[in-house]
Amino acid sequence: MGISVSNLVKDWSTFRAVDNITFQAEKGTFVALLGPSGCGKSTTLRLIAGLDDATSGTMTIAGRDVTQLAPAKRGLSMVFQSYALFPHLTAAQNILFGLSVRGFSKGEQAARLKLTADMLGLEHLLDRRPSQMSGGQQQRVALGRALIAETSVCLLDEPLSNLDAKLRAEMRSEIRSLQKRLGITMLYVTHDQTEAMSMADQVILMNGGRIEQAGSPEDLYERPASVFAARFIGTPPMNILDLAKIEGGMALPGSARLLTDQASGELQLGIRPEHIRLSDNGEPATVQTSEYFGSDTILTCRIGTQSLQAKLPGRAAIGEGAAIRLGWSPTALQFFDRSTGLRRDDVTAFKNQ
Ligand code: ATP
Repeated sequence: MGISVSNLVKDWSTFRAVDNITFQAEKGTFVALLGPSGCGKSTTLRLIAGLDDATSGTMTIAGRDVTQLAPAKRGLSMVFQSYALFPHLTAAQNILFGLSVRGFSKGEQAARLKLTADMLGLEHLLDRRPSQMSGGQQQRVALGRALIAETSVCLLDEPLSNLDAKLRAEMRSEIRSLQKRLGITMLYVTHDQTEAMSMADQVILMNGGRIEQAGSPEDLYERPASVFAARFIGTPPMNILDLAKIEGGMALPGSARLLTDQASGELQLGIRPEHIRLSDNGEPATVQTSEYFGSDTILTCRIGTQSLQAKLPGRAAIGEGAAIRLGWSPTALQFFDRSTGLRRDDVTAFKNQ
């Protein structure tokens, strides 16, 4: 086992930042703690690192209960968003800092520095101070400082958020391939769903201090547990539309097309923009805006009194105000309870739509 967290709670005076969360990060896997600002993901990471004390709950690392241990005794390394490099030290001295305070021999330090610098492509930067390096280079040094410790667990808090989009994408795949190659258990805090989805074996989606859903990226994308999860993952997010009762089941308000034969409860329909297509016998809709992104076009449409986005491949030559018809496969439809926001697996889509 890499990291195991049980019933973890953190109260700040009257405010509960982490509300009884339990999860496991299997050894050697990459786990993303994902969620909006203020949902408690950084606090969770700081509790595991031992930088803040938990109000209650337990944490184990590599099978050892670390709940009461000092940060340095927990057997982990950490990378922060603000690289936290010492400005007066060179890259090499920054990377080696932890090893030198722990009394590693000069020979061991040199050997590990060479390995780490090679791995991160930092050989030519080792004599520079942080002010003489770009953001991406500084982040590599911060990563090097964590990796040189050779701990089996590494915690990262939004490590790429200060970098531009291109560098972020490069660093994403670099970190992921290093993690795989070295077999490290990584717990990675991010508010960026693309980062979580593209890097992680397991995504833990947090909301208001609780775990909203934990699973593989495919689970979260294909079977969101709630409307919150459905809208948090995906660009643009999943469309969520109210349904109305009609003879035989439910339909979009004002439409006679049966979407499910389920007739009880208040339901919402979920459908991903990429699962919607133009269809001659589909639902009538009016285009409000049309945005072309090169590989696809995103149409924002009115369908009855509700709004919906469709992502069509390539350039869709459809202007604003156009009357179109939209269709989908029944297998693309998902259903949620309108009052609880939770997924309703018992509701099935009507086959002959
Ligand atoms: P962000 O992405 O904005 O960093 P987050 O999900 O990491 O958000 P946390 O930093 O874990 O969120 O904060 C969770 C909640 O706890 C927030 O409402 C925050 O204001 C509060 N909080 C964090 N640290 C403290 C503190 N030292 N004292 C009081 N409240 C705090």
